[in-house]
Amino acid sequence: MISPMSEADQSTPADSNPLNRATCPKCGEPWLRPTQLPGRLRCVNCLSRFELVSQCPNCGEHQTIARMSHTADMECQSCGSSMLKEA
Ligand SMILES: [Zn+2]
Ligand SMILES: [Zn+2]
Repeated sequence: MISPMSEADQSTPADSNPLNRATCPKCGEPWLRPTQLPGRLRCVNCLSRFELVSQCPNCGEHQTIARMSHTADMECQSCGSSMLKEA
């Protein structure tokens, strides 16, 4: 008959704030959270602190950090490297 599990399909992105899903470069867990300081994030999993830098640590390209509203803003648009520097 009808399985009760078929009702559990929730495709509504209720918690879709991308900043709350940023992945920690150190431990790889999606637990980066913004701190009170602008441009600073902290991983609540491994407790590492990170700083969002304007110059790519990999290729040296300067990036424009307009708003930290997307996790893509934390990646270099030239090489795709993370713009997060461990602080
Ligand atoms: Zn971490
Ligand atoms: Zn780069």
